[in-house]
Amino acid sequence: MNSRIKQWVRPELRALTAYHVPDAAGLIKLDAMENPYTWPPEMVAAWLEVLREVTLNRYPDPAAAQLKERLRTTFQLPAESMVLLGNGSDELIQMILMAVGGAGRVALAPEPTFSMYRIISTAVGVDYAGVPLKEDFSLDPAATRAAIERHRPAVVFIAYPSNPTGNLFAAEDIRAIIEAAPGLVVVDEAYSAFCDASFMDELARYEHLLILRTVSKLGLAGLRLGFVVGAPAWLQELDKLRLPYNINVLTQASAAFALDHHDMLLEQARRIRADRDALYGALRSLPGVTAFPSQANFILFKVAGRANSLFQRLKEVGVLIKNLHGSHPALQDCLRVTVGTPDENRAFLSALRMVLSVL
Ligand code: PMP
Repeated sequence: MNSRIKQWVRPELRALTAYHVPDAAGLIKLDAMENPYTWPPEMVAAWLEVLREVTLNRYPDPAAAQLKERLRTTFQLPAESMVLLGNGSDELIQMILMAVGGAGRVALAPEPTFSMYRIISTAVGVDYAGVPLKEDFSLDPAATRAAIERHRPAVVFIAYPSNPTGNLFAAEDIRAIIEAAPGLVVVDEAYSAFCDASFMDELARYEHLLILRTVSKLGLAGLRLGFVVGAPAWLQELDKLRLPYNINVLTQASAAFALDHHDMLLEQARRIRADRDALYGALRSLPGVTAFPSQANFILFKVAGRANSLFQRLKEVGVLIKNLHGSHPALQDCLRVTVGTPDENRAFLSALRMVLSVL
């Protein structure tokens, strides 16, 4: 290795593996929890009219005030809470970790979970502690309480519904964590469009609770827009870390436009939910496949001893899903498929049947 890199780049960063995004060119893309639907042509035309007015020579509104107002009304955010925007919710996770980080500080999360909690913790110099979920992927209250006592975490991340398992943890288990935590608790509701549960109403009860949301899964992944909602006292601190113009003009204008059509996005989410349940039923009926129930727009499933070869063969026949085998001990033999259009789901299922029959 280049000796200057060895001398100067932080060892924990050198030891890290970058978040891998595979090339999906030419494949049916069911690996990244995207909404598979685009917009009707008349809506695209109206959006392009909006973009015509956007001035690229000027910096964006640093506070993105209009967009924040749209988010407040669209998602009925509590009036007494503050909202902060991020270039994707990933950026907000980074800001949160930078805010509470420092030598000896710990971030804690039930595991397996969204891998960026660990990756960003390591990148910004925060120690990371994972607490294993129970075998059915529910929270383990005793183990979590013990880990909170041991590590006194500066922040706890809870994905709700969880990724990659797809389940919703019991609300009372999350409340117990919020009450036991000495620092901040972030309930990450990236998949809230696909379930009926949320901790948004609990903000009034807990000052150290933040709710993290994203518009990515709702159909706007390309815009890179996430938001965090919580007590102004906390968010004012986080805001000091935000780079001045983190939400660009195209995102501000496009997201505000898209939120004016929230009903259409919600209708797409409803369709995805119904198709998820159909896909789950089909997966469950396949011999040798164990599918886990999901409240998100993806399904985790297990194929004993065959995940790597199955993933590879599916790719060869044109379907890209996510291989989780090897990423965490509890995800042995596991794969994750995002719910696509009915055609894509059918193509995935028939490829899966075919590949299973010859493996
Ligand atoms: N949180 C969870 C639980 C996720 O699964 C993801 C995306 N996979 C994110 C946050 C990040 O979403 P984005 O950066 O697109 O807003």
